[in-house]
Amino acid sequence: MNERGRLKDELRYLFDEAPIGVVVSDLKGNVLRANRAFAVFVGRSVDEVIQMRTDQLCFAEDAADAQAGRETLVEGLANAFNMEQRFVRPDGAIVTGYLTLRMARLELGDPVFVAHVHDVTARKRAETTLLEERLRDRLTGLANRALLVDRIDRASRRASGLALAVVGLDRFRIFNETHGHGVGDRVILDAARRLEVAFRGAECVARLGGDEFAVLAEVDDAAALGEAVRAATTPRVEISGTEEALTASVGLRKIEPADRADEVLRDAQLALYRAKEVARGQVVTFEAALRGRAFRRVELERALRRAVEGGEIEVFFQPIHRAQDRALAGFEALARWRHPTLGHVSPAEFIPIAEEDGLILPIGAHVLVAAIEQLHLWREAGKVIPEATVAVNVSSMQIRSAQHVQQLRNFLETIEHPECVKLEITESVLLERSDEVRRAVDGLKASGARLVLDDFGTGWSSLTSLHDLPFDGMKIDRSFVSRITTDTRSRNLVRAMVGLARDLGIDCVAEGVETEEQLTMLASMGCEHIQGYFFSQPKPASALLL
Ligand code: C2E
Ligand code: MG
Ligand code: MG
Repeated sequence: MNERGRLKDELRYLFDEAPIGVVVSDLKGNVLRANRAFAVFVGRSVDEVIQMRTDQLCFAEDAADAQAGRETLVEGLANAFNMEQRFVRPDGAIVTGYLTLRMARLELGDPVFVAHVHDVTARKRAETTLLEERLRDRLTGLANRALLVDRIDRASRRASGLALAVVGLDRFRIFNETHGHGVGDRVILDAARRLEVAFRGAECVARLGGDEFAVLAEVDDAAALGEAVRAATTPRVEISGTEEALTASVGLRKIEPADRADEVLRDAQLALYRAKEVARGQVVTFEAALRGRAFRRVELERALRRAVEGGEIEVFFQPIHRAQDRALAGFEALARWRHPTLGHVSPAEFIPIAEEDGLILPIGAHVLVAAIEQLHLWREAGKVIPEATVAVNVSSMQIRSAQHVQQLRNFLETIEHPECVKLEITESVLLERSDEVRRAVDGLKASGARLVLDDFGTGWSSLTSLHDLPFDGMKIDRSFVSRITTDTRSRNLVRAMVGLARDLGIDCVAEGVETEEQLTMLASMGCEHIQGYFFSQPKPASALLL
């Protein structure tokens, strides 16, 4: 064999055994040569491949791209063309190659295409899974928010009569807090499965995060979709032998072809928050009037989360004086939120939001700890008498969480004078006179703290509550106090309340006392304690003149 022959053999060997696929075709696409790596890659023998045209090997959808690449080379616009190209194996499997295509002239013959092909199938598969994962909710496997927005976008271009229903579980955060996250996850999974089964034919069933899901569907009757979603979202979970069921509220948004997907989603969520605000377990259809109102709520909800973490919740103190000699007897601790841009947000506004989404638990704990600490400091500094008390509001949501109540008890049991702590409970919680509430109230009482019924007289259960539960005191609501000097009926009512407290042997505080006349009248009725602007507004501890 001559020198040239040997070189040819060596080159042939290099070509055949190269670890990268090489395929040579004429300008019409007939395969002229292929090496072993390429043949293995496309799942055929070298001989087989050489009988074929490249378009027979390629995945049909990629044919146009490949053609464009070849044209670029033929027109001399580039020396090489890189692309990802899928190939179909005889068994139907699809593999992906990273292809570098060049034109060459072999031994004075016609020009040919030479393609070097890297097998990138494994990487491609990993990429697709990753991409999939980015569009899927981890826990439930449902579409996530990003995928939902994409689906809304696509569907609204194609279909008419679309509607989006966003559904949220009622009181889920409290449930989660009470039973633990493991149980919470089971509830979320159960809700997801129910929605998936009920809306198999829908455009998209997604989880937006937390306890919120969404169903996108083409419907004749949007209202019916809302109702169906609400009815399907009834997750159940077994907790130590008993089955717990949750209900859900729904926000509904009809979709017009020109609507933007992210706005559609936001509107549906606003409608959901509205539904939760009005009465849980309802469907509310979005209307434009909801925007201004609910925006603030959504904004506050987001901001509140950060506020709690960022320490924006402060505690103010309002003094409570003895009516008889006007001596300082103690304080009520009141939460305050000073938001960097929204300014001062009233507890009347943020406490209900905090109750809905469970943030009341950390807020309540924070206020309790701060209040007790401050009282301790005042006592140590001799600013207050040793018997001075501090009253802290306890929300009904806090009472409902057995775990939280236990935490409060544990804390109260470690402090020096638990009898100086008053826990103010409004009667709304006591409406549900369940064993659970009873246990919670008894538990708190057992820690040594005193219990006070707040806003007495504003609900119909006041009397029974006082009778049934171990209260040490009550607070007469400002709505009565503010009218005692002008309205005989209010005066008589307040006199009766003061008498009731005396008969039961419990303490009585009049709230919202603003004038000297009110104070004198209450004192003459025998009301023991007075709280209100007459003495002082609620202030930061440092601003109180003690
Ligand atoms: P509340 O417990 O009945 O508190 C008394 C409210 O009356 C306070 O309103 C207080 O600033 C206001 N007030 C006191 N004296 C006067 C007065 O002479 N005139 C008038 N017009 N108002 C007076 P605030 O601080 O806005 O709190 C409103 C409600 O928010 C509270 O009612 C309580 O239910 C709730 N809240 C406040 N802080 C907390 C907290 O830390 N936890 C919980 N769960 N609820 C809280
Ligand atoms: Mg109070
Ligand atoms: Mg009150």
